Amino acid sequence: MPAASACSPAIVWFRDDLRCDDNPALRAAAGAGPVLALHVLDAETAPAGGAARWWLAGSLAALTAELAARGVPLRIIAGPARSLVPEIARAVGARAVFWNRRYSAPAIAIDTGIKAALAAAGLRVESFAASLLHEPWTVTTRTGAPFRVFTPFWRAARAGGPPRLPLPPPEHITGATGIEPGPGVEALGLRPVRPDWAGGLRASWTPGEAGARARLTDFLDHGLAGYARDRDRPDLSAVSRLSPHLRFGEISPHRIWHALTHRAAAAPELATDAEKFLSEIGWREFSWHLLHAMPDLAERNFQPRFDAFPWHIDDAALGAWQRGQTGYPIVDAGMRELWKTGWMHNRVRMVAASFLVKDLRLDWRAGERWFADTLVDADPAANPANWQWVAGSGADAAPYFRIFNPVLQGEKFDPDGRYVRTHVPELARLPDRWLHRPFEAPAAVRAAAGVRLGETYPAPIVDHGRAREAALAAFASLPSA
Ligand code: FAD
Repeated sequence: MPAASACSPAIVWFRDDLRCDDNPALRAAAGAGPVLALHVLDAETAPAGGAARWWLAGSLAALTAELAARGVPLRIIAGPARSLVPEIARAVGARAVFWNRRYSAPAIAIDTGIKAALAAAGLRVESFAASLLHEPWTVTTRTGAPFRVFTPFWRAARAGGPPRLPLPPPEHITGATGIEPGPGVEALGLRPVRPDWAGGLRASWTPGEAGARARLTDFLDHGLAGYARDRDRPDLSAVSRLSPHLRFGEISPHRIWHALTHRAAAAPELATDAEKFLSEIGWREFSWHLLHAMPDLAERNFQPRFDAFPWHIDDAALGAWQRGQTGYPIVDAGMRELWKTGWMHNRVRMVAASFLVKDLRLDWRAGERWFADTLVDADPAANPANWQWVAGSGADAAPYFRIFNPVLQGEKFDPDGRYVRTHVPELARLPDRWLHRPFEAPAAVRAAAGVRLGETYPAPIVDHGRAREAALAAFASLPSA
């Protein structure tokens, strides 16, 4: 390895923290020498799903531009980080390597190995907390165990006081020179080409740090007031849609926390809304806490008694659910919103997931995999934690016997049918009264609205009442908790 000199670069290794703001690793690198930024697309830890990979491409392109404006080159390469990071550090004669921590088991294993290899080669290596408000292992019960229930987890997390203030981007930063530019984002093949199915995603999102900040400002100005009341309404713009930005670390939870509490301090009438929103950020923290305690959360039932659950195997039903052709409008609207935009409203995620595991009695893991492939915010912690919550097999889960009725959920949370009409246009002309239950509408009403069940829109693939009874019977067959 070349000896470190005054011009030896400090590497900042970007992973799930694709931002310059509130980035402790970038700040540390800026203070340690000319900076070389690095991103490694490693098959072991990169998102596998098509929608999340599309997002990653946009986010890396935005970060490349953001860093270039500060004179810092971003080198992007594909391959195993275990060997590539030490190789690059050696090749450029780096003096130090910095990164912000990640928390999935494969990522921790990779990072630990690299840290040891770099330290053994005499480099300074430092990692920082930046993606979560609380390191998953720092919030514990009185006996030092991980929490299994959200409310005491969140109470314990908050007992330590507010999170640290967000850090501004480094004021002075010198980019490393003489670095060979890598092949760039486009060479990674992250975006779909033939067919290019990403039109709906492009129309819906602006990946990158600037898009994240704009989304936060918009939410503070137009969404926060009324959030606690309206957050379950998919027909309104009442939620932040920050999830993919948070997933890729384009904005930090610290920045969000302080922006929110600042806003609420200036307008006390927002206190309830702000508190509710922060608790949702808390659910994100709790998901990572669970994943850290149980690294195979996406494969294994958190409650082992669910191992005996008699799941159906029915590819036709799974396909109908995936394509939004179940005959239940709120479920179909959600699944089509997901396919088109890469995102689905939280209430509808719950209803659609419940329909898969309870009405169709398909294994929650099949649903988790579909979401992982199609969500732009697909997250190794929140996705399995929420699927297990809905399935009843998870930590602090919804009780299995609470089974969503998709018709009543639709009528309650999409009362004027705006959401269903947007995503299931073939039902648009049905009167509100029948919109969420087209199969019960009088034939003449359906005919007048141009709806022919089984032709223009499917008849229900299961009868909810009967499916509910069968699901409860299957649950009753499980060993008791
Ligand atoms: P807001 O209501 O504005 O909430 C703000 C932030 O809080 C979100 O951006 C998110 O980071 C966090 N948050 C909110 N609800 C939850 C929750 N239940 N669990 C964890 N974090 C939460 N969220 C993901 O980020 N990635 C996933 O892969 C994911 N999969 C899910 C699967 C199922 C079956 C269900 C029911 C929920 C899933 N969620 C997932 C949680 C939730 O649906 C999304 O975080 C939320 O809809 C994102 O929209 P938003 O940013 O407008 O949320």
